[in-house]
Amino acid sequence: PSTEFEKTRRLLGNDIQETMFYFQAQLEDLKKKLGEGSPLATQVEQILDEGIDRIRVSQHDLRILSDLDGLNLWREKEAVELSELIQKRLHKLQNPPDCSKARKLICNLNKGCGYGCQIHHAVYCFIVAYGAKRTLILRSKNWRYDKNGWEDVFQPLSETCTDTAASSFSHWPGAENTQAVELPIVDTLSHRPPILPPAIPKDISERLIRFHGNPTVWWVGQFLKYMLRFQPKTQAMIDSMKESMGFKTPVVGIHIRRTDKVGTEAAFHSVEEYMERAEEYYKLVSLSNPNVVRRVYIASDDPKVITEARNKFPNYTIYGDPNVSKTAAVSTRYTDASLRGIIADIYFLSLSDYLVCTFSSQVCRLAYEILQTFHPDGADRFRSLDDIYYYGGQNPHNQRARFPHTAKRSNEMSLKVGDFVGVAGNHWDGFSKGFNRRSKQTGLYPSYKAEETVEVANIASYADFDK
Ligand code: GDP
Repeated sequence: PSTEFEKTRRLLGNDIQETMFYFQAQLEDLKKKLGEGSPLATQVEQILDEGIDRIRVSQHDLRILSDLDGLNLWREKEAVELSELIQKRLHKLQNPPDCSKARKLICNLNKGCGYGCQIHHAVYCFIVAYGAKRTLILRSKNWRYDKNGWEDVFQPLSETCTDTAASSFSHWPGAENTQAVELPIVDTLSHRPPILPPAIPKDISERLIRFHGNPTVWWVGQFLKYMLRFQPKTQAMIDSMKESMGFKTPVVGIHIRRTDKVGTEAAFHSVEEYMERAEEYYKLVSLSNPNVVRRVYIASDDPKVITEARNKFPNYTIYGDPNVSKTAAVSTRYTDASLRGIIADIYFLSLSDYLVCTFSSQVCRLAYEILQTFHPDGADRFRSLDDIYYYGGQNPHNQRARFPHTAKRSNEMSLKVGDFVGVAGNHWDGFSKGFNRRSKQTGLYPSYKAEETVEVANIASYADFDK
């Protein structure tokens, strides 16, 4: 298919979803105003249910369309080939012929934050290393989750070069011929390289934009694929968990982030809100597979939610272990047991067919990134209850207006075709919030009137690695 065909097909999926969000939000609001239980409210409820059934059929038909004429096979092939290309490059970058002469980028794993945040820190280092064509050296001694370091659970990032020794040393950015450069955390980074997310490298951009709905998250996923290769004993733990759960797909992954996050960095969401989104997914799947078994995998730092879900949703098979959640409590978070728990939870979430979670959590974003490595295009396989996807410390994320818009309410802003909008969030009710770079206004706009742009970075050539 042409890139335009694929882009338009993906836009259509987005348009349908935004239409659904709009009607859901508007009619729910109307229902409330009419008074719960009143005859008119009951009629609105019925319009909502029947209307959504009709919209769902369009989603179903679009799914069929996206698989016609061998399109899924083509997508699969492209995804595999491009992944192989990147994995080969990363392997070469990490295994220089002579470590004593290799140009290195040094990074400390032990950022003062949770596992998801630390892994994202390491990936940021790896992406910067890729852009600078330097071998990443990850320091992980006295890791807060495991004092024995990274290699206790994951394979080393290199078979030949894990040593920080160098003839010359400097802080980022250093000079071309500085042998080892140390990278600070992204929060204090100056001399920000163009390869920082959401950018993708120019030389793979055309192929990637053609087959994937969110090139940034695919690209990030490739670094995780390389980094998070389990040690045999980690793999054995995962295998035994899988067996004792009787883990099967299709499954919806649900991550419920509570404890220290609620009220400080994110709002509380009930178990019902997550399960409703899982049910929406299963209703769509039911159109092609009427006998689909409803399964969810629940990960949380609050052990109560798994029991609660089992009591309230007996028609669901619910995977998840309250004992794993117990190791995630703030007081017990940074132990060997909690490390194994969070590795397993993120892995099982990433194996799901669809993720329901809050993108305000690094755990949820990490699972979404890894999920991309298991599907040719997993861009649409999520529902976030709060933020849109982002990479912590990323460069501006822009959308471009496709249609003009005249503000209709005081909190809206107008758009001209071609306007660039720094997108702050999607309210999942048909509207997004952003900053119009032309008019300098901040406000809401109908999400369907703008489309994602992709930032492309021109970095060191890897042509010599591809031979
Ligand atoms: P964020 O705070 O949610 O953005 O993500 P971080 O990963 O930076 O920190 C949260 C930490 O809480 C994780 O790294 C885990 O240690 C723990 N945690 C949060 N949610 C879960 C979960 O679902 N399962 C497990 N096992 N641990 C969790």
